[in-house]
Amino acid sequence: MTERRSADPDLFRADGDAPVLLGSRCDKDEESFYPRRWTCPICLGPVHDVELSQSGVLYSYSFIYAPMFGKSQLDAEGYGVGQVDLPEGVRIQTTLEGDPASWRIGEQMRLVYTTADTTDDVETVLYSFTPAA
Ligand SMILES: [Zn+2]
Repeated sequence: MTERRSADPDLFRADGDAPVLLGSRCDKDEESFYPRRWTCPICLGPVHDVELSQSGVLYSYSFIYAPMFGKSQLDAEGYGVGQVDLPEGVRIQTTLEGDPASWRIGEQMRLVYTTADTTDDVETVLYSFTPAA
């Protein structure tokens, strides 16, 4: 059985059906942040760790007609990038999965895993968003 491992455990957990983004929240300002912070950038007070929602609304997107950074596959058609607004008020910069024709600004998107690398029994994963419907 292959073990799934987060490519960056400081940014997201990978032990469930979908990635869980790890953020911070300032209760005084009622603001959440991603990635996590040591202090609140508004009041410089303490923040605590929170797990952010696994779905949000697509704010904007684009398609990059070039290989993704770090990929040696020069004939790759490209990849999608976008910004997804979570209910906590956090805007996530992310890659997008699925048919670009299915991406709609204002529509619900959900988190999914993408494989960064597979070796023997370990699948190293990243997170991405895809249309929820
Ligand atoms: Zn604050």
